[in-house]
Amino acid sequence: MKLLIIFTLLIMRINLFSQINEKSFKDLITDLYSNYSRYKIKQIQTKRFDIQFYHQILDSLIVESKGIFSSELIGKSFKKQEIKLIRFGDGKTKILMWSQMHGDESTASLALLDVINYLNQKKEFAESLRNKISLYIIPILNPDGAKKFERRNYQEIDINRDALRLQTPEGRFLKKIRDDIQPDFAFNLHDQYSNYSVGKTGKPAAIALLAPAYDYERNINEVRKRAIQICVEIKDIIEKFYPGVVARYDDEFEPRAFGDNFQKWGSSTILIESGGYFNDFEKQEIRKMNFLALIGSVYSIAYNLFSTRLIDTYFEIPENERRFFDLLVKNVIIEKDSVEYLVDLGISYSEKFDSLRNRYIKEYSVTDIGDLSTFSGFDTFDAQKLKIEIGKIYEKVLTDYSQLKKLKTDDLMKQGYTTIIYQGNFESIEENSLLDLMISTTKYPLRESKNILGHSANFILKDRESNVRYIIVNGKIIKIKRIEH
Ligand SMILES: [Zn+2]
Repeated sequence: MKLLIIFTLLIMRINLFSQINEKSFKDLITDLYSNYSRYKIKQIQTKRFDIQFYHQILDSLIVESKGIFSSELIGKSFKKQEIKLIRFGDGKTKILMWSQMHGDESTASLALLDVINYLNQKKEFAESLRNKISLYIIPILNPDGAKKFERRNYQEIDINRDALRLQTPEGRFLKKIRDDIQPDFAFNLHDQYSNYSVGKTGKPAAIALLAPAYDYERNINEVRKRAIQICVEIKDIIEKFYPGVVARYDDEFEPRAFGDNFQKWGSSTILIESGGYFNDFEKQEIRKMNFLALIGSVYSIAYNLFSTRLIDTYFEIPENERRFFDLLVKNVIIEKDSVEYLVDLGISYSEKFDSLRNRYIKEYSVTDIGDLSTFSGFDTFDAQKLKIEIGKIYEKVLTDYSQLKKLKTDDLMKQGYTTIIYQGNFESIEENSLLDLMISTTKYPLRESKNILGHSANFILKDRESNVRYIIVNGKIIKIKRIEH
């Protein structure tokens, strides 16, 4: 009887503790979200940045931490750039995080700065975690790729297909760290294209999660189960503030990838892919989602909260599907060989360095055409059966800013012009002005085919009376002002 009472009291105590922890977990997440601007490192707010500058910031955060964090320079890329390992805490449960294995996937690298900054600021919180977990961070695993904002390393190898052969110094470094530390949890942090959606829900996949398979059969052992539970935790954290933006990444086994092998080697591994979100070209909102996910996961691991999360929830997350455009233009009429037909246009951008402008520009083009009724877009426009034609290019190539200034863009648009070729100085031109949208610095549009698929997104939309009602200029819809008679 006495034993039973002690046992019951013990269970009540455990329940009480877990309730308290769940409550403080909720408070923590709310604070991370509401006060993020206090924790964010604001010196970098773009996805492209100088990695030297990044390391300067990182180094000063380590100094500021007064021993909470330590940094070791223990790796070198193929081009002898440094790869650091940052350490925090000396608890039993080991967590390893690495970012930017693909050089053009920088969102999580910035979130990791915020994570370190947060723990620096919250001394008490950091102190409470220190004896529970050991956190190891490798920010920017692929500095040679990152320097050029390119996926692969200097050897032109995709490091994430090098887990078996280990021909890249970066891959060997990651494998060595794994073998030395033998982490319980591993966070593999990437970016994906912004044209993924959360299944067919019509929402962009801002975050896609994966607990990678460790075999072709996609079995679930204890190691993978824990990873799945962390994915559920992350989904709940993010969707508390951003409903419906988390997708589940395809779990087909990839024997050459690091994530899949980490899982196989015994570390519960979570892949986080940062995708696209509304008005978030620089991915700063998604950076915040990463910040929430990473600190939330660390807390959940430290207090073993994740172990009550249901793995079924993971499989209920809609799949990551390529069904999203930057602009979806619905219901346009195309005429070809005097035959008219109804289509939708999917328009997406790609980034290109423009040497005359001396900056990266977004070039929008048509990437799909036809019945796109199961697709969605960051912007959607219903053309209501207006007729689409390829926009006209201003006949004269301009080289002087004064010529450009004289152009009456309103009139040109009414006449169906969408593009001006200009090869002069750009200093006086306002970025994002309408003029800037219309300006092409290359003569390439002149060579463009009559096909709409693949064409740059410069079109006119006409009504039955052949009036230009809208123009599309580099992926933007502009309404034409009409003079009423
Ligand atoms: Zn990647």
